[in-house]
Amino acid sequence: MTSDKSEKQSARRAFRKDHRWDRVELHPYKDDGRAIFKDVTRQTLVSRPDIAGELRYFEVGPGGHSTLERHQHVHGVLILRGSGQALVGDEVMELQTNDLVTVPPMTWHQFRATEGEPLGFLCMVDAVRDKPQLPEPADLEQLRRNKQIARFLERK
Ligand code: MN
Repeated sequence: MTSDKSEKQSARRAFRKDHRWDRVELHPYKDDGRAIFKDVTRQTLVSRPDIAGELRYFEVGPGGHSTLERHQHVHGVLILRGSGQALVGDEVMELQTNDLVTVPPMTWHQFRATEGEPLGFLCMVDAVRDKPQLPEPADLEQLRRNKQIARFLERK
């Protein structure tokens, strides 16, 4: 028996309105002037030293978008709320609530919310992972050769 039993926290962290959970901090991404992302928040839902992965919840505000990036680590994504589009590799895809998206290693990816509502998604990753790479001008030029990708990237 521990002496400070009162500090023991429940295994349950209840779901609250606006896709918040008990005892989960909300981290707004601040615009840093480079406009690499727009209106994104992050909540880390599960992160423990005895699990090799992390589960996070991201929310992209209406019309917003995540960073266009690539990295060695893989994403397992479940759309939990709203709709939008994603670029994954050379594919631009429509996203609906409950769709699953896998992002393979070193694959350019970006998520965009529709204008009318936020896009919320769970994202599973390795707890220990490499830093995302941002596109160089030559990478963007390469991506834009695909007209569908060019249109996707042009949206503000
Ligand atoms: Mn990523």
